[in-house]
Amino acid sequence: MDAQQLKDDIIEYSKTIGIDKIGFTTADIFTELKERLRTQQELGYQSGFEKGTVEERTEPTRLLPQAQSIVAIAIAYPSRMKNAPKGTKEERRGIFCRASWGTDYHVVLRDRLNKLAAYMEEKVPGAVTKSMVDTGELSDRAVAERAGIGFSGKNCAIITPEFGSYVYLGEMITNIYFPPDSPVEDSCGDCRKCLDACPTGALVQGGQLNAQRCLSFLTQTKDFMAEEFRVELGNRLYGCDTCQQVCPRNKQIDFHIHEEFEPVNEAAKPKLKPMLTVSNREFKDKFGHMSGSWRGKKPIQRNALIALAHFKDKTAVPSIIQIMNEDPRPVMRGTAAWSLGKIGTPEAYAAIEAAMTKEKDDNVLFEMEKGLAFKTSAAIH
Ligand code: SF4
Ligand code: SF4
Repeated sequence: MDAQQLKDDIIEYSKTIGIDKIGFTTADIFTELKERLRTQQELGYQSGFEKGTVEERTEPTRLLPQAQSIVAIAIAYPSRMKNAPKGTKEERRGIFCRASWGTDYHVVLRDRLNKLAAYMEEKVPGAVTKSMVDTGELSDRAVAERAGIGFSGKNCAIITPEFGSYVYLGEMITNIYFPPDSPVEDSCGDCRKCLDACPTGALVQGGQLNAQRCLSFLTQTKDFMAEEFRVELGNRLYGCDTCQQVCPRNKQIDFHIHEEFEPVNEAAKPKLKPMLTVSNREFKDKFGHMSGSWRGKKPIQRNALIALAHFKDKTAVPSIIQIMNEDPRPVMRGTAAWSLGKIGTPEAYAAIEAAMTKEKDDNVLFEMEKGLAFKTSAAIH
């Protein structure tokens, strides 16, 4: 079959299975990305969640030796929550980032890519495909950029002309030849809003991200969060949307095309206090459908302690004391102590002092000292 005709057929078919944008590129090496990844590695800017070697991440034929093309897909997700529940002084709420609202996008995009693969295999006998979403070796963004899905913003997101950067990306390497699309001719120009708005200075320069400073990555870690980031965390429980929210290209962008991505509001913007005591079972039932639950409840609970400190929520003090005294996980006990110090009621300080006489873990004791230091600094000021 004529390659252009096949491409047109696939574009048409993609619209019928809930793919909002599709682009095609070659299976050539991602030369620029290779350089960038090496620099990222040398500077220690990687998150550690990356899969594969630099070669595997930039040379499609290492993943599929007979590769000729890569098909990139994009699916839009909402940026606004309908009837968003509001936090109150007694019931503060945290927030999951938009990309984790609704059903885990890995599941949805894999489904779409499987359908696309089945269609291609039916049309072209001998077609071979290999699909990836986020966790594969290839960079979804580099593929999307080269396949004309959007341009790469200084916030490191792919910005599409139609849906802004609120899109999920996935791709499929195949042995079928398709005429490649051209990259989108656009750029951020002089704008630097995202760089200025990033709370931790993680966007080192336009298009380069230091993942080790990015709240999106840091909310997913399981250890203690460094104090400089705790104070910037706000009420984020998972991920960070700031550099997308401030982007002028996302102004008025809010697509509710796919039912799967509509948030369950009580899960996407949950109450913080119940999060502290949620059981594994409850966590799975309530948050298990979201991509933001992939690291389990520990990072989310740690972030909830920090968010309660951010709000200085006095009503949470008894629950936080209980965590500090009884939780078997040092990260939770220590972060609870820090959080209590930050909230700073007499009851909170007294509880830290009492707990210090029993605590054996050095890291937790260190956090307790930090918690009590807030008392000293409050007395001085
Ligand atoms: Fe900065 Fe948040 Fe964007 Fe990360 S996600 S670069 S912390 S604004
Ligand atoms: Fe580009 Fe400005 Fe958007 Fe940043 S905020 S990605 S600089 S357009």
